[in-house]
Amino acid sequence: MKNWLIQLRAGRLIVASVVFSVVLAEIIVVAMSRWLHAEVRYDFLLTGFVTATIVSFIVVTIIQVIVRALQTTDEQLLERTLYLDSILQSTGDTLIIALDTAFRVKYLNAMAERVLDISAGKAQGQRISELVDNVRREHFEQAMRAATPGRGHSFAFSYELEEATHYFEATLTEILHRNRLAGFLLVAHDATDRKRLEETLRNLSYQDGLTGIANRRRFDEKLDQEWRRAAREHQPISLIMLDIDFFKNYNDHYGHPAGDECLKRLAQVLAETVARPGDIAARYGGEEFAAILPNTSLLGAEKLAEQIRAHVEGLELPHANSAVSPWVTVSVGLATRIPGNDDTAAVLLEGADRALYKAKQAGRNCVVSDHH
Ligand code: GH3
Ligand code: MG
Ligand code: MG
Repeated sequence: MKNWLIQLRAGRLIVASVVFSVVLAEIIVVAMSRWLHAEVRYDFLLTGFVTATIVSFIVVTIIQVIVRALQTTDEQLLERTLYLDSILQSTGDTLIIALDTAFRVKYLNAMAERVLDISAGKAQGQRISELVDNVRREHFEQAMRAATPGRGHSFAFSYELEEATHYFEATLTEILHRNRLAGFLLVAHDATDRKRLEETLRNLSYQDGLTGIANRRRFDEKLDQEWRRAAREHQPISLIMLDIDFFKNYNDHYGHPAGDECLKRLAQVLAETVARPGDIAARYGGEEFAAILPNTSLLGAEKLAEQIRAHVEGLELPHANSAVSPWVTVSVGLATRIPGNDDTAAVLLEGADRALYKAKQAGRNCVVSDHH
């Protein structure tokens, strides 16, 4: 109806109106003559014909104008929808889901289909919390509860996509229509690459450049953390500190690059020996290394310290300028504490350092424990 009407252009419109009006005039005239019991006269017929032509022309034109206006609005709407849809579908890694006030899916884009593993058609009308697995359901429901009272709520969730874990950062915001809640918009972007980069940078900032084991920054943080944990749990914590014997002489004799290689070998020994989960081996500075041993008694720490010392000596790295051995050796100091109320991790550090000093005094290449 709409289409053939709108396609009638001026000439055809007049012809159509004339044809229409002839039929209309005939009907009117015949009807009136029947009703008035009058004869059909020529001028009566002509007047009816002219009136009908004018009326039908006006009517057809009005209908045409209305139809055209409706069609324009329809086309504009269609165009708008197409544009919006293509924008929403081309958001790459961004997931977009529109929900009604009962958190049922009204719309989801291609990324959301991929992540939730469901087609837009099937998802329509389902509650969002039913489309996610148990692990994520809690995150979503929490966000939904938090978003309801006023403003949007940000949250994060991870998802397995193509056998890799993807990390999403999401915001759930209200859609208002004339100041009334009309639904919610969930927008989540895949922040996996950024997350990985952050992780790499964090790891790098915690790593010693030469030896690859934990650096002093990591050591300080970890010592503080483990100390506080030991205080909470009333558990012993041990610290081993070791220092290469006559290392200055080693550098003088073999050169700095050889000294660096020696440091790498020692770091390796330390990392291999201090291998319990929760333990950490670090380069404390220069040619000094340290190991933090949570939940480890003095006896346990002494055993481990002796293992490290023996292992280093057992490497049989030649050290022509050492006064204690033909090989590279280390002196080891250790301390164990169960943190008390007023103590800080510094007491452990001071204890291990004191013991290391004593090990040097005692002739090097040995293990000394701090007895406070
Ligand atoms: P001691 O048995 O008393 O420990 O004697 P030492 O010579 O080892 O004493 P000291 O601690 O005074 O010397 C440490 C030396 O370690 C000084 C420096 O040449 C060397 N050193 C420190 N950091 C590095 C490093 O990154 N690379 C190399 N090659 N040498 C280092
Ligand atoms: Mg030293
Ligand atoms: Mg030394």
